[in-house]
Amino acid sequence: MKDTLLKISNLKVAYGGIHAIKGIDLEIRDGELVTLIGANGAGKTTTMKAITGLQAWAGGEIEYLGKSIKGVPSHELLRQGLAMVPEGRGVFARMTITENLQMGAYTRDDTAGISDDIDRMFNIFPRLKERANQLAGTMSGGEQQMLAMARALMSQPRLLLLDEPSMGLSPIMVQKIFEVVRDISAQGVTVLLVEQNASLALQAADRAYVMDSGLITMSGDSKQMLDDPKVKEAYLGE
Ligand code: ATP
Repeated sequence: MKDTLLKISNLKVAYGGIHAIKGIDLEIRDGELVTLIGANGAGKTTTMKAITGLQAWAGGEIEYLGKSIKGVPSHELLRQGLAMVPEGRGVFARMTITENLQMGAYTRDDTAGISDDIDRMFNIFPRLKERANQLAGTMSGGEQQMLAMARALMSQPRLLLLDEPSMGLSPIMVQKIFEVVRDISAQGVTVLLVEQNASLALQAADRAYVMDSGLITMSGDSKQMLDDPKVKEAYLGE
């Protein structure tokens, strides 16, 4: 079995009196594509924020590469290979595509390698190459999603966290984004994918966790989950 990259044990997060995460366990092994699905407000984004140091937690533990990440700042976690593409993308609107990609590599100092990686991103995302000098804020939603993913990849992440990459995109663009997620995974990057589109997420992933009201209610092989009557009824609308 592959090494465990990330291990969450009995994690609890509260916002004031609201218990958003009520004690969850989740594990991601090296090279896996894992998806976390669930209804609005289930706690998926909160889980991602806890993993990337953006959200303090009240109880439990998160270990990355065998070490607790409690209190470790986000920029240090990024240096250690933990990158996140947030919901809403967060590209630098007033910078060009190329400048956004350069910003994504700010933890690196290998100038030649950075330049090679920008070319690599332009190969994965030809649309970004065509628009290399366009301001990011003027790109379409789908293009900004591609840019946000490319920018995160510029940090050479070991674990890439994607928060609802399909949000607000046309069906064709959603297919394209999922193709890219699978390609990124095939290239050896471990991926945690949070998605509202449960059907596509389960088709793409190796394993899945279902979250409901701050708890993990189900976990296992994602293809088997596609056939699970409870999952079909609650999350696939079948
Ligand atoms: P969605 O799919 O709608 O994005 P989610 O599963 O990502 O939902 P979270 O964003 O993690 O859910 O929210 C979990 C719960 O915590 C929700 O009830 C939400 O209202 C609450 N919550 C999230 N952020 C805060 C905050 N900063 N302050 C107070 N409550 C919050």
